[in-house]
Amino acid sequence: MINSVLFKDIDEPDLNTLAVYQRRGGYSMLRKALQMEPSAVLDEMLASNVRGRGGAGFAMGRKMSFIPKGAMDKYLVCNADESEPGTFKDRELMQKNPHQLIEGIIIGAYCIGANKSFIFVRGEYQHQADVLDAAVAEARAAGYLGENILGSEHTIDLVVHRGAGAYICGEETALLDALEGKRGNPRLKPPFPAVQGLYQGPTLVNNVETLMNVPYILSIGGEEFAKVGTETSTGTKVVSISGQLKRPGNYEIVLGTPVRELLFDLGGGPLDGRTFKAFFPGGSSAPVLPLTDEVLDLGYDFDTLAKAGSMLGSGAIIVFDDSTSIVDVAYKTAHFYRHESCGKCSPCREGTNWTEKMLKRIKDGVGTPMDLDIIDGVCDQIMGNCLCVLGDAMAMPVASMIKHFRGEFEDYMEAKRAEAGLGPAIPQVNRGRQAGPYPMDAPAGIDPVPVSY
Ligand code: SF4
Repeated sequence: MINSVLFKDIDEPDLNTLAVYQRRGGYSMLRKALQMEPSAVLDEMLASNVRGRGGAGFAMGRKMSFIPKGAMDKYLVCNADESEPGTFKDRELMQKNPHQLIEGIIIGAYCIGANKSFIFVRGEYQHQADVLDAAVAEARAAGYLGENILGSEHTIDLVVHRGAGAYICGEETALLDALEGKRGNPRLKPPFPAVQGLYQGPTLVNNVETLMNVPYILSIGGEEFAKVGTETSTGTKVVSISGQLKRPGNYEIVLGTPVRELLFDLGGGPLDGRTFKAFFPGGSSAPVLPLTDEVLDLGYDFDTLAKAGSMLGSGAIIVFDDSTSIVDVAYKTAHFYRHESCGKCSPCREGTNWTEKMLKRIKDGVGTPMDLDIIDGVCDQIMGNCLCVLGDAMAMPVASMIKHFRGEFEDYMEAKRAEAGLGPAIPQVNRGRQAGPYPMDAPAGIDPVPVSY
């Protein structure tokens, strides 16, 4: 089901200018907020139960409530480092409607008592950063930013900061380090940014789409907002649909809309002569789900996808059809995350490296089923043992591909061995098993390929 909140009038010409945004009622919610106590604004955010749209899905109101009260330097940082493969929603939102983001940031900063705010935009988004710079300059000239905004006693300023192009800077603490001028490495948590973030001060970090919901929540009230969607996934969500289907693009949907509707009604269904095989429901770091009838009937919301063994993540749906080799998908996924690993902790630094190498062996036709078990074990060792979520971001999808498509990996290996004139690597008795030790000593008649790294 489509419901336009953030995409309402998104294609109106010149919506990125202050004049057009104001003509549509823009910045009226900031005026309203300034008439309210910050605690009343917070109550609306809590009542809306809006969850973070950047990946983690943590309730924004609760995050705001963690910021300590009192006079101290506090910060609001908008995470616009949209780098997750398959995610391109914030790009369109910032480019076409930057003032709604700015208004959301100012209201958020007012709510938590922050005087300084930042938008950390990924380095590759040069055009979007230019658009934001121009919008911030307009907002400042109009008195929405700077000292004594709109004649009030509140000072709130906003700086657009361009990243240098590292995926890891989308992780909130790495982003804060980068903003401070250091190399973007994740920090040990706790302390969480709400307590000790930018320049050691309490910091609210939220995603573009999340903050753009703030003026809308104030306009209709938190309780009304919470009536749309499901009980635990309220509101609408902009999903980026890409991959092998007819109509890829950004769509705003009500959370809980069935996956079938997203892929067939919005995405246009599979390409001619093809069938859907599987998809990443929430960016390339989400566990892959095969597109069975059961999965197509699932509601697209945070909790339903979690129960199904995956996650909504950033709302990036990447679909592949029956022409795609799952071995290729697994290898490219591991390659990407190995390349983006910052190397600070060993489970991720070593684990992504080993996994990529083993998948390359399989891809090159010199792998054995034992490699699948080793990869499975390595992924298991990575998950939950890293300093940040990047390690899991590789381990979860790769492990899910082995779990759901082990037979395809095995068939691929057999085909490659046959091509090379080698005997079968997999005894019939072991084909298709889900997990378990593979004998290190190859059974009689099996031609083992030595494992060396
Ligand atoms: Fe760096 Fe990976 Fe460890 Fe995150 S999980 S801190 S990216 S090495």
